[in-house]
Amino acid sequence: MAGKPKPLVICGHQIIDVVKDFPILKGCVIVSEDRIVDVGTKGSLDIPKDAKVIECTNSTILPGLIDAHVHVTGFRSGDYIKESLLTPYATLVARAIKDLEAMINSGYTTIVDAGSVISLQLKQAQREGIINAPRIVASGYPISQTFGHGDIHFLPPDLVDARTTKLLNPFSSLLCDGEDECRKAARYALRAGADFIKIFTTGGVASQRDRPEFSQLTKKEIRAIVEEARRANTFVHAHAEGAEGIVNAISAGVKRIAHAIYIDDDGIRLAKENKVMLIPTLSVINMLLKAGEESKLPKWALEKAEEVKRIHVENIRRAHRFKIPLATGSDFFFQLPGAKVYGYNAVEILALINDIGLETIEAIRAATLNAAFVAGLDDYIGSLEPGKIADLIVVNGDVLDNPEILIGPDNISLVLQRGHIVKNQCKLQEQ
Ligand SMILES: [Zn+2]
Repeated sequence: MAGKPKPLVICGHQIIDVVKDFPILKGCVIVSEDRIVDVGTKGSLDIPKDAKVIECTNSTILPGLIDAHVHVTGFRSGDYIKESLLTPYATLVARAIKDLEAMINSGYTTIVDAGSVISLQLKQAQREGIINAPRIVASGYPISQTFGHGDIHFLPPDLVDARTTKLLNPFSSLLCDGEDECRKAARYALRAGADFIKIFTTGGVASQRDRPEFSQLTKKEIRAIVEEARRANTFVHAHAEGAEGIVNAISAGVKRIAHAIYIDDDGIRLAKENKVMLIPTLSVINMLLKAGEESKLPKWALEKAEEVKRIHVENIRRAHRFKIPLATGSDFFFQLPGAKVYGYNAVEILALINDIGLETIEAIRAATLNAAFVAGLDDYIGSLEPGKIADLIVVNGDVLDNPEILIGPDNISLVLQRGHIVKNQCKLQEQ
């Protein structure tokens, strides 16, 4: 029988403590098997004699990063018909595996996939260690009303709904109207293996004939889905862009609100009262507008993206001023060849700092502890505390001084996931 693996000690110039909100200088993290055992300054720790020590000079140690709203689809453009219906499904899966690998190599040890059946199906492969990927928390099929954001308006309904379509399509959803149908759709999503339930309570930018302000699903329908999620010990994550749909979702018990473009005073007040986390997903709009026509996204979607950009930033700034907590989600849903998309998810951290005005350490908390709440895993991951799962990264340089070094794989010198070294460019000292 193999003996217990040696404890692992990772030391750096500073450790970011996202709970106490300050850096620990000349700190180390002691890991045994898959757990964090102790964290502190080098002198204060009782370092086990048989430990493997990794020294990362001039570096910052942080909890593993989490993208709390992303879609792993294997798409290589915004041309829905070509990507979704004309590309072989296995090809999409192979591309998706590449995109997952790019994310873990950039320090993302967990992702929340808010709607793509590919992630749901790859969860097992990740757990078995067959693919090099972030931990996957997935909704699988999202739930939409008929003529909702998830009801792809230009396709016949039979091809949209996962229960009727014969096509393998990463963006299949479940269409439901009325409380009973919504309850049934929620149960179907759970039956398919969903970790949580994703719903659309408003229209959106990437749906053809509705608008972000349109309110979708009634409060009663949302409440029925929230209740089904609770009974299965999970929760609901809502795409909500318009003011009314945000209010409906929160009043019906949803605590994770993505996008929140038109959040108003009522929405902010309710969010505060109900301890709601917002996932503003600023990066996807930036990425689409930068790519423009090259994205192959239809003109109507690009026009809507342009229209919402400024007001989105203003409203999220306002929510932040009222101390509504934020979590990072890139909302990336396709990789554009040559562009910095998957693997560059930390652009969202920078957007929170530069566009919304968060302090660097607050933005790091948005990408770790707050994002862990969105994943439903804040008791296990998201901070470097004894007893938590050993997901951590080492960044080459001082992130408090220059947070841009978080973006991309180049400065991520070590990735530890569940106590396993996924990537390491620091010096290993066997004692
Ligand atoms: Zn999304």
